[in-house]
Amino acid sequence: MPRLGGRGLGRAIGGSIVAHKKPNLPVKTCATCGRPFAWRKKWAKTWDEVRHCSERCRRSKAVRKA
Ligand SMILES: [Zn+2]
Repeated sequence: MPRLGGRGLGRAIGGSIVAHKKPNLPVKTCATCGRPFAWRKKWAKTWDEVRHCSERCRRSKAVRKA
């Protein structure tokens, strides 16, 4: 008979429960899809210039539905 449980049981919860809420990140609205998007680390240096939520939107900024 394998012994299940034992030590470790009951310790799954607890510890890193902190920081569960979303951090207070700045939010912008995508110029292409119009959806709000939050600050990302990759935009740390270019946040002021960021106008699109993703590379895909950035590329398709000039595209319009016919
Ligand atoms: Zn977008």
